[in-house]
Amino acid sequence: MPTFSLTGINVGTFNLGEADRIVTFFSRERGLHRAVAKGARRPGTKLAGKSEALNINRMLLAKGKNLDIITQCETIESFQRLRQDLERLAFSLYLAELTQIFGQDLTEDSQEYFDKLSLFLGLLAESDKNPGLLALEFEFVLLDMIGINPELDYCVGCRAPLTDRSLKAFNYELGGLVCETCFLRLRKLQNDSDNNRASVYVTPLVWKYLILARGASKLEVGEALKQAQESHSLKPDQSVQANQPIIAARRLMQGYLEYKAGKKFRSLEMLPDLL
Ligand SMILES: [Zn+2]
Repeated sequence: MPTFSLTGINVGTFNLGEADRIVTFFSRERGLHRAVAKGARRPGTKLAGKSEALNINRMLLAKGKNLDIITQCETIESFQRLRQDLERLAFSLYLAELTQIFGQDLTEDSQEYFDKLSLFLGLLAESDKNPGLLALEFEFVLLDMIGINPELDYCVGCRAPLTDRSLKAFNYELGGLVCETCFLRLRKLQNDSDNNRASVYVTPLVWKYLILARGASKLEVGEALKQAQESHSLKPDQSVQANQPIIAARRLMQGYLEYKAGKKFRSLEMLPDLL
């Protein structure tokens, strides 16, 4: 049987038969891939722990008729600290869910996406940076890599540069921010219920976080690590009030990704008030 090796981040599993598990992972070499971990649900077997979500494994696979089979597996990173913090774990599983949904479109850029995903999981596990802000930055990484960057600088209705005073809402259908004049014009064109679904109000502070996160998402790996380390020395403001605009900005981009995917994401539903 021909074999090949892959290095992949586990992003999801489901059960197969009585003792096996199908693992979905994003590999550096080939992008999104599925393989069978035989016997992984039997307690005490080596593959049981290794096939858990968010592990990075180096694997040897045998080409199967339908699905490939993992024949050897070595875990090179398991992000233990993620598993001790429910909020950080939820955000990490959200990154994994996004990868399952959009990973198919990233095969050509698999190495770049693999590196970014490992970077953000590492930052979620180890840095003091606000995890919601990290997730927002990752949303921008993904939006950029799948080629649907939202317009944040000019109104998508009239192309006028946006200001704190003119800014009104984000329109999912048009893929960007709209000024107040265009927002009112669009509302007249569409009936109210459609418009409510397609637009979300945006405050100047939420806009500021969107712009900041978009900038941070473009950093090279080394620079992003450096910035996260520097944020260690700042006292993070964890108050609910300080977090509100970050939560609103991140939810807005999640909504945009959900609109593009045509489905709701589930990972963050377990902590609805926090995230
Ligand atoms: Zn406009």
